[in-house]
Amino acid sequence: MQIPFSPPFINENIELEVLDALRSGWITSGPKVKALEQEVCNYTNAEACLCVNSATSAMMLVLHWYGVKKGDEVIVPAYTYCATALAVMHLGATPIMVDVEDDFNISVSKIKLAISSRTKAIMPVDFAGWPCNYSEINKLINEPEIKQKFKAETEQQKKLQRILVLSDAAHSFGAVYNNKKLGTAADITIFSFHAVKNLTTAEGGAICLNLPLPFNNNDVYATLRLWSLNGQTKDAFSKSKAGSWRYDIVYPGFKMNLPDVLAAIGLAQIKEYNEVLLKERKRVFDFYSKTFSNYSWAMLPPYDVPNASSSYHLYPLRIKDINEEQRDRIIEKIAETGVAVNVHFQPLPLLTVFKQMGYDINNFPSAYNNYKAEISLPIYPQLNNNKCTYIVDNVVNAIKEVLING
Ligand SMILES: *Cc1c(COP(=O)(O)O)cnc(C)c1O
Repeated sequence: MQIPFSPPFINENIELEVLDALRSGWITSGPKVKALEQEVCNYTNAEACLCVNSATSAMMLVLHWYGVKKGDEVIVPAYTYCATALAVMHLGATPIMVDVEDDFNISVSKIKLAISSRTKAIMPVDFAGWPCNYSEINKLINEPEIKQKFKAETEQQKKLQRILVLSDAAHSFGAVYNNKKLGTAADITIFSFHAVKNLTTAEGGAICLNLPLPFNNNDVYATLRLWSLNGQTKDAFSKSKAGSWRYDIVYPGFKMNLPDVLAAIGLAQIKEYNEVLLKERKRVFDFYSKTFSNYSWAMLPPYDVPNASSSYHLYPLRIKDINEEQRDRIIEKIAETGVAVNVHFQPLPLLTVFKQMGYDINNFPSAYNNYKAEISLPIYPQLNNNKCTYIVDNVVNAIKEVLING
């Protein structure tokens, strides 16, 4: 049996929504994007939501809006996808990496140690869909001595008067924190709609705005939208109406808009998100956890405590007391059975670009320990119980073989 790692979920409803866009006479940013933004607001309760062409673009746009530039620092976990740190670097600023905890998420006590007078933002990552400790992070950035360190240099920084919490929620659409769907736990929450993510538009991302007063989130939405469309006063959709040709460029903006034909995929998916996509992911997650809980070598991922639950984006299984080389051999054995697994993530300090910046994995022991023992199993709605059984049997066999043979 061949089991791919993460195929997209495409059903007839999705095909019809895309066809509707294709046949409407308008395929780039227009009514489908607006409708998706509204659905994301309804789902997350965020005050405003802007869709753009990727989560990476979204992070760059927001950091730029907050005035992050050369000489500034942004705190990121060492255990994340490269995009979190690259978005910071694209603005000329410096990503400051901190180690994670046993649950894979950024360590709040280590954030505290990493804050300097140059820190402008913190970007927590909800690894695998498991929410970070936002209560502690929000408490930390509001502590008087931390606020005193903050140097407000731009209009937005003078308004907020503290470090911005920008959540990289690429994995966690649909996760619950403090009994609420993620989207309002941080100042700004960014979801990814990349093809392998829980909710997809093939490529895309969403910026959920939840800034405190004196910000008006609808005004911030309007600014970000303008800046995502070259700073042009009229988008192509309005300009396409008869007699509506004249426009101005009022800001040197980016080109980061999401096309309608892609938004249509997400629009159809979000309507079935709770009932089908999230529910079926949870079924697979629970199947794995129930089975692996029988084995003393298994470390199960966190997923459910009172008031919080995962979005079940990944199933990051860890195997106790194994080294990296054993983990790699287990993956090879699993691959021989046709099951595609993965590793999330190689900590950033293991990657060339970040090594060359001087980051050393020895300073991130928890990230390394998580990584060396981790195998991500396939998790998506199309995996029926028969396939789940096939996966689990082969994973268990591979692990046992390697553990027995050393
Ligand atoms: C996928 C991912 C991103 C990037 O998302 P794009 O939409 O592809 O730009 C960022 N951070 C994390 C943690 C991711 O997994």
